[in-house]
Amino acid sequence: MRAVVYKAPCKVTVEQVEDPRIEQPGDAIIKISTSAICGSDLHMYEGRTAAEPGTVFGHENMGVVEEVGPGTTSIKVGDRVVLPFNIACGFCYNCLRGYPNACLTVNPAAPHAAYGYAQMGPFRGGQADYLRVPYADYNCLKLPGRPGDQWEDDFITLADIWPTGHHGVVLAGVTTGSTVGIFGAGPVGLMAALSAVMMGAAEVYVIDRVPERLQAAVKLGATPINFADGDPVEQIKEMRSSNAALQGRLRPGEEKMSGADHGIDAVGYQARDDDQDEDQENPTQILENLVRLVNPTGKLGIVGVYMAKDPKGVDAEAKVGHLTLPWAEIFEKGLQIGMGQAPVKNYNEFLRDMIIAGRAKPSQIISHRLPLESAPDAYRAFDQRGGEYTKILLKPDLPASAA
Ligand code: NAD
Ligand code: ZN
Repeated sequence: MRAVVYKAPCKVTVEQVEDPRIEQPGDAIIKISTSAICGSDLHMYEGRTAAEPGTVFGHENMGVVEEVGPGTTSIKVGDRVVLPFNIACGFCYNCLRGYPNACLTVNPAAPHAAYGYAQMGPFRGGQADYLRVPYADYNCLKLPGRPGDQWEDDFITLADIWPTGHHGVVLAGVTTGSTVGIFGAGPVGLMAALSAVMMGAAEVYVIDRVPERLQAAVKLGATPINFADGDPVEQIKEMRSSNAALQGRLRPGEEKMSGADHGIDAVGYQARDDDQDEDQENPTQILENLVRLVNPTGKLGIVGVYMAKDPKGVDAEAKVGHLTLPWAEIFEKGLQIGMGQAPVKNYNEFLRDMIIAGRAKPSQIISHRLPLESAPDAYRAFDQRGGEYTKILLKPDLPASAA
């Protein structure tokens, strides 16, 4: 079959690799209808992780069950399914407690696993014709309809970006009437905005510098903040303090709560420096901004990735994921921090049903639908994190000429 293979920093190719096969009784083989390129893939693509050459990329996958192992019970050949990017067994201590993002059995090396990802186990990715899914009964989420229908590009967001954005919103404690600041208008930040609005937040600020991405945030009902125009935290505080309606309802002392009660990091360690040189990275930029923006007693949802092995980190400490943070301010403000890989399975079926009911259309942020052969160009373009490339889907059934 064809697959997108990582060769070296900033180089992927589309190659013939061996077809996947049933290895365990609970496995299924999926014929991929859509696989997405993720901002997380870019960390590997740029050589900013421990990813080995030869890795088949692709952790955002959906398609139709082609074959099942003899141990599967609920999943049948012909079922249309989407897979959480995290692979989990469903029976270990963590899975049973509702943490499928920290499965203890599927990856011998660490307490988590994913398709086609550095240090997440020996599983191939789905930017390919076919994918092997372990513990298929647990990992497959069944979908109505058929490949290519009106929901295809909505359902693919259930593999990662929407549950991840939603997790940020849940960790940050967003609810009806909340004020929330979301750093990053990439696919994950945009999905966090979708969820924040859906959950009834009153004020949703989305911070980035890419006009097309900020425009997408506006379409989702958020207020855009361009960090190229100045300190984004001050911009939000200024916007709030010059809003007569907000000021007119303050109780005594409430002027001290001039920021947001909820903050989300949808950028991670490859954040750009926003006050000195936008072309430089500052791995703690978002964390520092969140601590400044979020009010005392507020909550932070950190879903942007921080990597333990970053060969190109800004200094020796950053290369091993050691970052300095304003802990005293975090303590003084009494901030609560939630972070980590999203437990996709905890949310994906409820979010799927919002799509089916017509209450959410996450596919509105998809910018490109391309054949597998376009992957090298698509990675190069998406890696610029700018322009019109908001979210790219790879469709193995599209002819190469459709690029
Ligand atoms: P992306 O790279 O497309 O988007 C990141 C955005 O952040 C870009 O639009 C960029 O312009 C913006 N940005 C850079 N510096 C900034 C700054 N100082 N202030 C505000 N915005 C800034 O990536 P994505 O696909 O949206 O993913 C976002 C993050 O979420 C990545 O770190 C990714 O690895 C991570 N992620 C985590 C999980 C999880 O389970 N926790 C799952 C998927 C993705
Ligand atoms: Zn992803």
